[in-house]
Amino acid sequence: MLEIRGLRKIFGAGKVALDGVSFAVPAGQMFGFVGANGAGKTTTMRIVMGVLQADEGDVLWNGRPLTFAERRTFGYMPEERGLYQKMRVGEQIDYFGRLHGLGAASVGKARDALIGRLGLTERVDDTVESLSLGNQQRVQLAVALIHDPELLILDEPFSGLDPIAVDVLAEVLHERARGGVPVIFSSHQLELVERLCDSVGIVSAGRMVASGSVEELRDAEGRRLRVVVRDPKPGWADGLPGELSKEGDRDVLTVVGGDDQAVLRRAVEAGHVEFFGVERPTLVEIFREAVA
Ligand code: ATP
Repeated sequence: MLEIRGLRKIFGAGKVALDGVSFAVPAGQMFGFVGANGAGKTTTMRIVMGVLQADEGDVLWNGRPLTFAERRTFGYMPEERGLYQKMRVGEQIDYFGRLHGLGAASVGKARDALIGRLGLTERVDDTVESLSLGNQQRVQLAVALIHDPELLILDEPFSGLDPIAVDVLAEVLHERARGGVPVIFSSHQLELVERLCDSVGIVSAGRMVASGSVEELRDAEGRRLRVVVRDPKPGWADGLPGELSKEGDRDVLTVVGGDDQAVLRRAVEAGHVEFFGVERPTLVEIFREAVA
């Protein structure tokens, strides 16, 4: 389990990048790290990987301060993709495998498995610079996975990928998580985070403003009743709690709290009820609310 406690980071000229970031990712969990541009995601990941030092706070691995040797067992996909452009795909993956201390035989086996799994078989002898952005990203992922990492930390791994590549990457990350590895990734694609992650952390201006499972975040946001009435009598919703908006010849009433039965009676008397039900907020809505 990775635990991050109260990270604070101040850059030159007093720029507070992190102001108390805490979260935990147990074995086998997929954690989505989300936040606006400049919120502090990359800085947090760099601190976990030892690229930057925190001014305050701790990074714990299985309950103890994380060591350099343990970091070497992690897989990292940095924001600034670090591939050698002139090197061929296969050589590149081998090279990083050897850097992680794998012997020639185990590197070869792991490389072949990853190349097949990530759909790079046709490109194994091409130089990285000749690949499309999406294929370079697949190579970057292979490099992060070559040593069978004990934790995966990926900075926007899905950005720029086509839907098929997104599915391949998502499946590979799920496989690793199912194998007991904590997986942390940042993304601005909130529908994807909602679909893939067991838990989510929302960071805003260097502070964690919400964290937990998507279900927990939804529960915290409260339930919301949505009513759609076609050709309603004017003024039917007067005095009811909630917000009324118009969509063509339909009235849409959104109610937080209040008495469902009373709202239903009024809606039925008002016109043709096309929809009446409780809707749960999406992660996009939770995010907007949390960073507002
Ligand atoms: P994005 O979604 O745009 O990648 P992020 O959440 O990853 O953003 P960070 O890159 O962690 O955000 O940046 C957090 C804040 O720290 C920003 O205000 C950024 O300008 C600042 N920052 C990051 N690195 C440095 C640095 N080396 N020197 C000064 N300020 C920095």
